[in-house]
Amino acid sequence: MKFELRQHFQIESARRLPNLPEGHPCGRLHGHSFKIILTLVGEQDPRLGWVMDYHEIETRLRPFLDQLDHRVLNDVPGLENPTSENLCRWIHDKVRAGIPALTRVTVMETPSTECSYPAREQA
Ligand SMILES: [Zn+2]
Repeated sequence: MKFELRQHFQIESARRLPNLPEGHPCGRLHGHSFKIILTLVGEQDPRLGWVMDYHEIETRLRPFLDQLDHRVLNDVPGLENPTSENLCRWIHDKVRAGIPALTRVTVMETPSTECSYPAREQA
C-alpha cells in the first residue's frame, strides 16, 4: 500500500522576469513569499512505519532553500528567468537524487496560484 506525503516550506525571495514585454509588472524587481511543497509517494518502511522521515526530507532540501531564501533569484545559476515553472524544475532536479520517493515539486508564488512539476500526466 502506497502513501503520499506532502511537506511545506517557505522562502522569501526577490525576482524580475526578464523576457516580458515592456511595462509588465513582473518585469520589475519585486518579492514573493514562495510556498514550496514536496510530494513523495512510496511504501511504508516495514519497521519504521513511514515512507521517509520529514526531518530527513528537510535536511536534504535545506541546502538548496538556503541558495534561494532572501536572495534575488535571477542571481542563482539556472534561474536567470525565475518563473514558478523554472523554480519548480530547479528544485526538483536538485533534490531528486536525495529524495528518491519525490514525485512532484509545487511552487505557490501567491496564495491563489500553484505550479507543479512534473505535471500529473507526465508522472
Ligand atoms: Zn512575481
